[in-house]
Amino acid sequence: MTKRAATLITGDGIGPEITKVTLQALDALGVQFDWDEQYGGMAAVDKAGTPLPNATLDSIRRTKLCLKGPLTTPVGGGYRSVNVALRQEFDLYANVRPTKTMVPGGRYENVDLVIIRENTEGLYVGLDHTFKVGGDRRAMAQAMSIVTREGSERIARYAFEYAKTHGRKKVTIVHKANILKSTSGLFLEVARRVAEQYAPAILAEDKIVDNTAMQLVIKPEQFDVIVTTNLFGDILSDEAAGLVGGLGLAPGANIGTHAAIFEPVHGSAPDIAGKGIANPSAQLLAAAMMLDHLNELEAAKRLRVALETTIVQDQIRTADLGGRATTAEFGAAVVQRIRA
Ligand code: NAD
Repeated sequence: MTKRAATLITGDGIGPEITKVTLQALDALGVQFDWDEQYGGMAAVDKAGTPLPNATLDSIRRTKLCLKGPLTTPVGGGYRSVNVALRQEFDLYANVRPTKTMVPGGRYENVDLVIIRENTEGLYVGLDHTFKVGGDRRAMAQAMSIVTREGSERIARYAFEYAKTHGRKKVTIVHKANILKSTSGLFLEVARRVAEQYAPAILAEDKIVDNTAMQLVIKPEQFDVIVTTNLFGDILSDEAAGLVGGLGLAPGANIGTHAAIFEPVHGSAPDIAGKGIANPSAQLLAAAMMLDHLNELEAAKRLRVALETTIVQDQIRTADLGGRATTAEFGAAVVQRIRA
């Protein structure tokens, strides 16, 4: 079997712990990768003196495929988010985050939704400044949000195409066009126009973001596919993850025309890093999304079934899901299920 070239960034904090388990699971599935290990974030600062070395960018340019662990971003100062920089560098315009009930007995039994978030525009373009007034160097702050017709069109089309090819029935366009009439207004106008081209096969509706946040808590089963701008998608996808067991179960894909990066939604979890107790499921599910992307559908399914069986049937769980398994024990149980 030919090996697929792929870039591997294990990441910071719990990244190396969860990535180790993920590689073991991929190995057990028999899908062969030729990993090019590169660095990003804090690990890269330590090794190469920069959070995003050229070697990492060159590797992704060559392989067009990357499995990534979480990267630490200093809050409020320091270097710019490497995650955001990677998304912009490779124009990974679609961030796809599925949320599905896996663990029974939680708050919600029938959640099965996908948040598709515009990944390159909005408030994440990095135009975020402070201004000096009088003696205060940081008396005022301003952020700029950029929304383009082209960017809105391609993310809306991606969402409706995703709905079509994944047997989904409805797309909810989430916005704040009542207040942000230009930026969110443009997004809504363009997305509605795209929606018309998919009617009546795919139902379209639109909702204001604050109402969506509430509806997600009250009745999450009503959502199927959500398409929205960068910041709203970021926040709503963490909220959605919280409905079904938390960040430890939430995978994400960053898809562009020329490259794709798969990662857990969560961050580097510094509070539990090095303790060996992190849940590797989000990273495992990100690997499953990567297998889907490579059209290794059977392997992706085997991985998801093994993971679900371990959690639900075998009741082997990490602490975030109320269990006592370490990352390594949980990983070994998933590998055993894959091999069974
Ligand atoms: P976080 O996601 O790292 O952690 C939030 C909470 O969830 C913590 O209590 C943590 O212990 C828990 N948690 C997260 N993942 C878990 C897992 N797999 N298993 C068990 N518990 C888990 O968010 P944060 O603390 O706000 O951010 C920490 C750092 O990560 C920051 O530097 C942030 O910028 C970065 N971050 C990176 C990414 C990314 O690389 N894509 C995403 C989000 C945050």
